[in-house]
Amino acid sequence: MAKYFLLSFDDGTVHDKRFVELLNRYEIPCTFNLNTGLEDFVWEFEGHPVVRQHLADTLQQYRGHEIASHTLTHPRLDSLHPPRLRREVEEDCTALKKIFGVQEIGFGVPFTVCGEREIRIIKKYVRYIRLSEYATSFALPKDPYHIPIHALYNDPDVMEKTAAFAKNDLPDSLFVMAGHSYELEFLNHWDYMEELLKYIKGFGFEICTTMEFVNRCYPQK
Ligand SMILES: [Zn+2]
Repeated sequence: MAKYFLLSFDDGTVHDKRFVELLNRYEIPCTFNLNTGLEDFVWEFEGHPVVRQHLADTLQQYRGHEIASHTLTHPRLDSLHPPRLRREVEEDCTALKKIFGVQEIGFGVPFTVCGEREIRIIKKYVRYIRLSEYATSFALPKDPYHIPIHALYNDPDVMEKTAAFAKNDLPDSLFVMAGHSYELEFLNHWDYMEELLKYIKGFGFEICTTMEFVNRCYPQK
């Protein structure tokens, strides 16, 4: 009976550095979903510019954590024709494999929408797909291409949900917590996040990367 707890953080901004340092202090692994086509793209969040990293400079920084694809340029997937969707996934995976020297790669959906049409196309290129949809239970998904999320780190009920997860008695179960490190910075959530990580760590869950979870629960034939 295993309770798998995964962290899945998106976009690869400069604030990942401080977040990784915090995670490392508590020996908590995380999956970082990155876009290789947006290194110089800056956008605004709560009036602050959000700056991405140059990924070739982050090999040491992400050591011990997982790198996954988040598409090349972070489009809304349901708006894309199949050739563009294939390019967004395939080129990002190829670039990430080259930069980080990994063989296998997973995928975190950008924005919120990813239907069965998109899943059918994306799954050809990746080991798993983490959706943005909220799960309705802690049960393991039917396959590795429908991994839901259970909470955003700053959902008001994230601790309650974590406590409910600790009490669940399914044979194996899953909790995925998602977020963005720039929110920690611009919403002033660093201290809160440290408390949350200590709280999660205290339950003795199987905290692992998404790829480790997938390889254990959905072994390749
Ligand atoms: Zn994103």
